[in-house]
Amino acid sequence: MKKIKKIKGIVLFSGGLDSVLAVKLAEKSGLKLIGLHFKSIFIPEADIKEIAEEINLPVKIIEITSEQIKIVKKPRFGYGKNLNPCLDCRLLMLEHAKREMKKQKAEIIVTGEVVGQRPFSQNRNSLAFLEKTSKLKGKILRPLSAKLLPLTDLEKKSLIKRDVFLGIKGRSRQIQLKLAEDLGIKRFLSPAGGCLLTNPSFAQRLKQMVENWPDFNEKDCLLLKVGRHFWEDKVLFVVGRDFQENKQIGQLFQKGDYLISGKGFPGPSILVRFKQKKDNKEFLEFIQSKAKELISRYAHKKPLVFDLKINY
Ligand code: SF4
Repeated sequence: MKKIKKIKGIVLFSGGLDSVLAVKLAEKSGLKLIGLHFKSIFIPEADIKEIAEEINLPVKIIEITSEQIKIVKKPRFGYGKNLNPCLDCRLLMLEHAKREMKKQKAEIIVTGEVVGQRPFSQNRNSLAFLEKTSKLKGKILRPLSAKLLPLTDLEKKSLIKRDVFLGIKGRSRQIQLKLAEDLGIKRFLSPAGGCLLTNPSFAQRLKQMVENWPDFNEKDCLLLKVGRHFWEDKVLFVVGRDFQENKQIGQLFQKGDYLISGKGFPGPSILVRFKQKKDNKEFLEFIQSKAKELISRYAHKKPLVFDLKINY
């Protein structure tokens, strides 16, 4: 008997519960899926391959940090509650998915989006907006909410089974958790470890960086994940809060930075970074005095000698 070839789809696979369930439902509808996972310094690292392996999903990982930074600096469609340019970011992901769709001769993009789960990027209007703006009308399937949304082209032609899809809306995850139990799904990422751009304190730090250094880069962003931050005259002082952070700060030290610590006592290391090169005596004195003030404030004992490393 001739085997019927399944229709291929590309799934945006974060590894979270909704994306795992979307895979399961889309496969039940008759699709054969290939996963795309987006990696960036703003998205917490995950054992994505293991999660995908468990559901037999081939997955391709795409690094988007530099593209996300460009978007954060100047989003076309604004920010959500924090510094999350979700509409632009979803469009970026759809653009990658569209390219992959062509490469793989796939006919549809599948996502784990749920109507009303996120006020900015997952309401009915924004889902329609994303489809229209990405020129993917009829080509995005959201299996968890499909029954509340217009039919995709494949559904219209009855090429996939629509009755397996759901009509979930809202932020509660009760239905998804029950479904995961029924389907025996045990591995997925917790929603708590979400994108840093939606985290208010991270967003606040990033906002300061955008204001002080409009041309900040990926390496600068890594500083946002560590220490206490102080800005003065567009100079950033990052103060380690413990041994581990002092070590991290040392690893982030790069050409042009200053690294200052008190000698012979446990206390914070301070990394000083600035964008405009000012290596005059006055500037060095300002850096040293500010760093000494911060070290004295956060060290248990006041150091007598300070160690200063400059990397040019
Ligand atoms: S939460 Fe973060 S990764 Fe997700 S769409 Fe928004 S900006 Fe992009």
